[in-house]
Amino acid sequence: MIELDDRLGTARVHARDWARDLRGTALELDRDPDTVYRCLDNPAVRHLSRMLIPERWLPDRTLIGGYRFDGMTAMERVVFAEEIAAGDAGMLLASPGASLSGVLIDLLADQEQKEWFYGRLLAAPTWTFFALTEPDHGSDAGAMGTALDPDGEGGLLLRGAKRYIGNGARAQVGVVFARDRPGPLGATAVLVDTGAPGFKAEPIPTIGLRGAQLSAITLDGVPVPAARVLGRHLSPTRRGVWSGVQMFNRLRPGVAAIALGIARSAHDYVAEQRSSLSKAERLRWERTGRRIDGVRQLIWQAAAIVDAQPANGHLASAAKARAARLAEEVTLEALEYFGPGARLTQPMLDKLIRDARGVEFMEGTGNIQRLNTFQGLVQGKIGRD
Ligand SMILES: Cc1cc2nc3c(=O)[nH]c(=O)nc-3n(C[C@H](O)[C@H](O)[C@H](O)COP(=O)(O)OP(=O)(O)OC[C@H]3O[C@@H](n4cnc5c(N)ncnc54)[C@H](O)[C@@H]3O)c2cc1C
Repeated sequence: MIELDDRLGTARVHARDWARDLRGTALELDRDPDTVYRCLDNPAVRHLSRMLIPERWLPDRTLIGGYRFDGMTAMERVVFAEEIAAGDAGMLLASPGASLSGVLIDLLADQEQKEWFYGRLLAAPTWTFFALTEPDHGSDAGAMGTALDPDGEGGLLLRGAKRYIGNGARAQVGVVFARDRPGPLGATAVLVDTGAPGFKAEPIPTIGLRGAQLSAITLDGVPVPAARVLGRHLSPTRRGVWSGVQMFNRLRPGVAAIALGIARSAHDYVAEQRSSLSKAERLRWERTGRRIDGVRQLIWQAAAIVDAQPANGHLASAAKARAARLAEEVTLEALEYFGPGARLTQPMLDKLIRDARGVEFMEGTGNIQRLNTFQGLVQGKIGRD
């Protein structure tokens, strides 16, 4: 069993405190994703906007409970993600900051690119996006069709379309995955300024995790200077599929923690709104609490493994699949404590149910995670117990 040390325990207490405020704006953000612009002073949002910026670029980071937190380890990210998502997963995804792109920048960017990226984030609240999914290629990212071709003058041009991209329409910078040649080594990630000609992003209608403002992006000959190709100083084997796998392994425990936070939010909601429970209800509620605690342990183990061996994301897949299912089951179960019509009378639970469904698709669906878990079992990289 993993227990948090004093530093991470401190993080948990502070983040739990911040999350209370987020509950107050959760339904508003769900109705109107632009609500985030009025919440930039919320401590959770401020923290997220500075996460994944290494110490070198932010030496005077505000300490929390006397400790420095930069979000560079999966373990730290899962502790914050669970607590902030228990306040509002929508706001966690709506916040400015390095977010998904930050892990890739840390893995692949050279000094000049880091200066450009972190410099933008530190100058003003800056939203970022990470664009891999395409209209016809979600789970099968290898079939990606977005092209990165030479422009004949030493630069490059991006052509294609991306879909379901978090914060796409509100971002100032982002990372786009594209193909610069056929075959498995042909995937490349480039830094993109959303003000570049040919870049267009529009929000798409969604029902869950609406704060994330999922967007459709069109890339119509977007110019990309050669200096913005991530991993240009690395061999092709290190910058394409390899970097994508490493990045998703590192992020996956955090997505699992978001699901866990949603489940906990629904579970806490029952305790807060139903002052007295029958004996049978109390036993059921406590059993669910133990399931939540069990999945938290799995997520912490997965995060510890990813921090020690970033190439081993198999347990992280098991954790993500388990946590996403937990979130769906616990949010639906919570309705049963409020009788017929609860989905109408308890709008917060309705939102949590929709958010839980959204997590199922983030960073690989349950089926894809189960395939990855199975490979880990077959290869002996994770145990059967
Ligand atoms: C809230 C949210 C945020 C997101 N943020 C981003 C983002 O920032 N950037 C980004 O690039 N993308 C993002 N996505 C997109 C997400 O990564 C995709 O939705 C996901 O990869 C699934 O792709 P798809 O929707 O095309 O579904 P599909 O791949 O078409 O899958 C449809 C169904 O088929 C099943 N399936 C597919 N292949 C297999 C297989 N081989 N074996 C068994 N079953 C299979 C899936 O499990 C699923 O049930 C986000 C999605 C959501 C919901």
